[in-house]
Amino acid sequence: MSGKPDAVVVGAGPNGLAAALRLAAAGLRVQVVERADRAGGGLRTEELIRSGYRHDVCSTVHPMAAAAPFFREFDLPSRGVRLVHPEICYAHPLDGGRAAVARRSLEETAAGLGPDGPSYERLFAPLVEHGDDVIDFFLSSRLRRLPTRSVGPITKFGLNALPNVRWLARRYFGTEEGQALIAGAAAHGMLDLSRPLTAGLGMVLGMLAHHVGWPLIEGGSQNLADAMVTALEQQGGELVTGHEVTDLREFDGVPAVLLDTTPRAFVAMAGDRVPEGYRRWVSRYKHGPGVFKVDWILSEPVPWANPDVRRAGTVHVAGTLEETIAGEAAPAAGRPAEKPYVLAVQPTVPDPTRAPAGGHVLWAYVHVPHGSDVDMTEAIEAQIERFAPGFRDTIVDRATKNAVQMQQWNPNHVGGDISNGEASLWQMLARPVPRWNTYKTPVRGVYLASAATPPGPAVHGMCGDLAARVALREVFGVRHVPALRPAPVPA
Ligand SMILES: Cc1cc2nc3c(=O)[nH]c(=O)nc-3n(C[C@H](O)[C@H](O)[C@H](O)COP(=O)(O)OP(=O)(O)OC[C@H]3O[C@@H](n4cnc5c(N)ncnc54)[C@H](O)[C@@H]3O)c2cc1C
Repeated sequence: MSGKPDAVVVGAGPNGLAAALRLAAAGLRVQVVERADRAGGGLRTEELIRSGYRHDVCSTVHPMAAAAPFFREFDLPSRGVRLVHPEICYAHPLDGGRAAVARRSLEETAAGLGPDGPSYERLFAPLVEHGDDVIDFFLSSRLRRLPTRSVGPITKFGLNALPNVRWLARRYFGTEEGQALIAGAAAHGMLDLSRPLTAGLGMVLGMLAHHVGWPLIEGGSQNLADAMVTALEQQGGELVTGHEVTDLREFDGVPAVLLDTTPRAFVAMAGDRVPEGYRRWVSRYKHGPGVFKVDWILSEPVPWANPDVRRAGTVHVAGTLEETIAGEAAPAAGRPAEKPYVLAVQPTVPDPTRAPAGGHVLWAYVHVPHGSDVDMTEAIEAQIERFAPGFRDTIVDRATKNAVQMQQWNPNHVGGDISNGEASLWQMLARPVPRWNTYKTPVRGVYLASAATPPGPAVHGMCGDLAARVALREVFGVRHVPALRPAPVPA
């Protein structure tokens, strides 16, 4: 880019790229600077082990991207990004060859839960019916007004969402299947499941299965990141890779700088320009447990005892509600779990393009104590083997990453925490610090735009989009949010 850009975005994760696209939509000259050799952050796909086997290094399952206002406007199909849907969104195997499964259809899911079916419908039907409003309310600005038609369902949701998931599971469900299904979804939040708000995540993720599904991106998550970069370049924006920003003085004279980083990285980069009060709040911002991840190449699909689980995109491998709660309590208390909650994804079930003909890839992670270098491979494979006898015989090769390596790979994963800050009740209300506008930093023209800001973790692009809107208003006087530029019509 000749001359100084109008705005620089540090970090090319989904939030950094979303911010860049919103800024570019206003006609600004935008430069994105990324430390890795390729854009994507949480959307990276790599041939980690053998050529032709494409592993999503981080995110794979994209209900949030399918539902989020930013990506609805970005319009994935027009950018050549195809979502593929597994026949079963997520499954939770239980001993004795049983399993609870969430299908796209609310009614079919309820029917599969037997005596818990009516309660399941009662819990989810109002949310699914008002799905777009629910998602817009939670993923957009807190100040956004809630449409009157959705006040009732969202208020009811709030009452059920605030407690912990054990309370919700026992209140609504009497069978092991019903209870385990909601607990498995809630455990995505990386919190001790006896803490408040864990019920809420289980409900939101459950609702999304019926509202938009739990799709994957054909060919790998990288394709979404690449499409965002292409869209930026089509508007004259620029991506610089392989450059780690350590000092914000590098951008002196650039009117706006947006950071897809941790709040601590901002404090380090801004140096003595950060007042003591803000610095203190950032030092109190808590990063939670880390993850230990395994990527496998398999000779065959996982031989789950229950045939429905073989058709699922995501599998929560933990056993009953109480086993799931115990599996998550251990890492939160600083110990690795003996029988962990394993979050497994079977990308080649809905998307065979990720491996050479007849080949299969699988990944799974477990939550581990913050900053731990413990190797959980054996514990993970034992849990899968429990519900899929013969699994170990299908393993061709594997790659692992512990929590320390997670942070080395991406500094936003402090201590292996892939949420860029614990998603506890307090830290969701004041993310990352208690300020009216948490995207603003105390340094003029510098904004936080990562998952450490509202609405928090997952691939939805909303943190970046909302941060860019603040920068557009404050720095450039843009009052009306510019629409994203549509994809060019092919010649
Ligand atoms: C193993 C794993 C599985 C996941 N699974 C899912 C899933 O299935 N579905 C889902 O929705 N979400 C999932 N997530 C979470 C999701 O990936 C993140 O919430 C999301 O990527 C956050 O986006 P972000 O843009 O805020 O940050 P990131 O995606 O972390 O991107 C930040 C970028 O900034 C760069 N950067 C940081 N500091 C600097 C610097 N100083 N200079 C230059 N560049 C810098 C980093 O290299 C990185 O590319 C998963 C995450 C992990 C790790």
